[in-house]
Amino acid sequence: MSDALLTLNAGSSSLKFSLFTLEGDTPARQFLGAFDRGAAPDRVTIRAVDGEERQLPMAETGALSSAFAAVLDWCEGEQRFGDVVAVGHRIVHGGLDHSAPIVLTETVIDDLAKLEPLAPLHQPHNLAGVAQARAAFPRATQVGCFDTAFHRTHPFVNDTFALPHRFYEEGVRRYGFHGLSYDYVSGALDPDLREGRVVIAHLGNGASMCALKGGQSVGSTMGFSALDGLPMGTRCGQIDPGVLLYLMQTHSMDAEQIATLLYKESGLKGMSGLTNDMRALLASEDPRAKEAIDYFVFRIRRELGGMTAVLGGLDALVFTGGIGENAAPIRFKVCEGFEWLGLSLDEGANAEWRSDARDVSTASSDVRVLVVPTDEEMMIARYTSALLQ
Ligand code: ADP
Repeated sequence: MSDALLTLNAGSSSLKFSLFTLEGDTPARQFLGAFDRGAAPDRVTIRAVDGEERQLPMAETGALSSAFAAVLDWCEGEQRFGDVVAVGHRIVHGGLDHSAPIVLTETVIDDLAKLEPLAPLHQPHNLAGVAQARAAFPRATQVGCFDTAFHRTHPFVNDTFALPHRFYEEGVRRYGFHGLSYDYVSGALDPDLREGRVVIAHLGNGASMCALKGGQSVGSTMGFSALDGLPMGTRCGQIDPGVLLYLMQTHSMDAEQIATLLYKESGLKGMSGLTNDMRALLASEDPRAKEAIDYFVFRIRRELGGMTAVLGGLDALVFTGGIGENAAPIRFKVCEGFEWLGLSLDEGANAEWRSDARDVSTASSDVRVLVVPTDEEMMIARYTSALLQ
């Protein structure tokens, strides 16, 4: 019987997980599932690869800890794939010290807990999952894979803010996030293209872009926190810090109120006054929905222009994430008018929905436009399995 490997990818109100078997050193996915407090707070869904979806019972509706418990209980009972020898965790923040996946010992976990103020909406949930998985599988190797790690190659100018240097030393830097996704997507590119000048747009509920040269991250739109850069489902993206001073001074808002505004009430949802769901916004006749989409697209195009300048040209633009993979009208609007760069979208190929990786540019386009489905859990599984070797 083979060994099994579980991956946990916890957000602030959601959990994605997969169960893999280890044949040699290649993880093979057997099950995948998710919990989403926003969409369905009372259930964890799970399905075998190519199988029917079913639900796992949860002790407490809406509680992420109950979702973890449901997954771990199911996994303990699911013996046909062998013992769970490792659990791979997505950990949002690795700080300055962690630029590669690592076995989560007591010391490392304590160290990562100190980074909670840097990612208050994610890091505590990631570490709560680690604690529950250690209790459920005390003999399994627990591995942490960091969202920030992929960006530790940023040059200084893309790693710093124009603050007194002591803040840089303290760790106030542009860390960048979505690293596991960028790692997976860049790894899926044709090797020649990967070595070139590439921009990947990870457009989901959380959204960011990454500029890559020679396969390494040289810039990201996200910075110190996962708030910066593009507007997102409910996050504001880039904002003038003067606005925050104004909110404090004129509206007497404290840090918690500002955090709630910027993380949960802004972005596509805040602008439209409707929803953070891009499908619903694209279908809406409401002028505010159009404004939100226009702003989203404008910021992507602006960042694309800036990143192209930093890279000294562009060989490929890659779309991924729920919006990047599925929303053809958004890809069209982003690419529209970039002909001056030699970018030419194949409108037919772009409009056709497919679930696999594909090229949606014309044969004569100087810039390849690609859609590559991301798979952060697969990346976690690969790293975890490599560390087990
Ligand atoms: P998360 O950051 O939570 O992982 P996802 O990558 O799953 O988010 O992306 C969620 C977003 O993708 C939502 O805005 C959703 O509306 C959008 N999306 C999913 N499918 C489509 C579609 N067919 N057309 C437009 N938008 C879509």
